Amino acid sequence: RVVKPVITIGEIVAEIMAVDVGEGFRSPLRLIGPYPSGAPAIFIDQVAKIGLPCAIISAVGNDDFGWLSIDRLRSDGVDISAIRIDNRLATGSAFVRYRSTGERDFVFNIVGSACSTIRRDAAASAVIASAGHIHVMGSSLFSPAVVSLVEDAITEIKARGGTVSFDPNGRKEMLDVPGMRDALARVLAQTDLFLPSGEELTLLTRAHTDDGAIAELLGAGIRSVVVKQGAAGATYHDRERTCRVAPMPVNEVDPTGAGDSFGGTFVACWLLGLPPEQCLRFANASGARAVMMRGPMEGNSTLAELETFLSVDALGANLWLSMMNTRRSG
Ligand code: ATP
Ligand code: MG
Repeated sequence: RVVKPVITIGEIVAEIMAVDVGEGFRSPLRLIGPYPSGAPAIFIDQVAKIGLPCAIISAVGNDDFGWLSIDRLRSDGVDISAIRIDNRLATGSAFVRYRSTGERDFVFNIVGSACSTIRRDAAASAVIASAGHIHVMGSSLFSPAVVSLVEDAITEIKARGGTVSFDPNGRKEMLDVPGMRDALARVLAQTDLFLPSGEELTLLTRAHTDDGAIAELLGAGIRSVVVKQGAAGATYHDRERTCRVAPMPVNEVDPTGAGDSFGGTFVACWLLGLPPEQCLRFANASGARAVMMRGPMEGNSTLAELETFLSVDALGANLWLSMMNTRRSG
């Protein structure tokens, strides 16, 4: 089926990570990076890898951190015409270090970076005019300018019969930002496909339980809810059915970006018209590949790579089963 372009709006950043596990950045450390990053960038790169036409509206500085991401997105097939290059501010960056508990410490430079210059220019308008779907990352709604740009794009795309997916991609603290809860609620009210993880499921509902939240969201007109459950896999809900997919057994090296890769694959497969079980299966494989690789978008994969990964895993599981059977009968 012919799919109109998928767009997203938000930050592009360079990510640099500490090599060793520990707390924070208050002494000299071995670092690795820069890696192209930013939740909407990871997402849209994965959509391109699945093979759908897509674009990102963003801004970077005229520096290597910016070109790093532009070059990657372009070579993976993302339309980069609406990435502004700002000559005054540097590209956004994020330093991350993992703790032994799995928690992360960050030093972000986003609000004061070129990201703060994301705006509606002619290139952004052209991309919005061509789009059939918009994906919103809650974490990208960091300024009133981005919020109104996103809301205008949603209105235009929906008026043409297009669709909206939404990943809150944040924690409870983001609701403390003035106006944020209202902005997220307005986006949610326009959402067709909702992709929360963990506590984000109940973040914007009156219900306090997961089941209550799902009933409330579907009752409010959201077509599908996909709950990302990290190392426990993921679950899909619509009014007709619920389906679950077990996590793929992988060695987690770097969980950053898993949710965004998962989202890119799910949204792309959903727009291609694949049944929810198939969307879930491919998205789950995407998330698993993302955590196996160091760097936020280094695990992004084509459909062919996901197919191979899934069949090799099935082979591994079958080998294990046949070993168990031999042992039992032996
Ligand atoms: P983030 O916002 O940090 O990118 P998220 O919370 O949005 O992540 P997760 O639930 O952590 O998203 O991960 C998305 C999906 O990736 C999961 O639903 C699952 O399918 C897959 N996944 C994540 N971690 C693992 C893991 N350790 N093993 C196997 N699959 C995983
Ligand atoms: Mg997330």
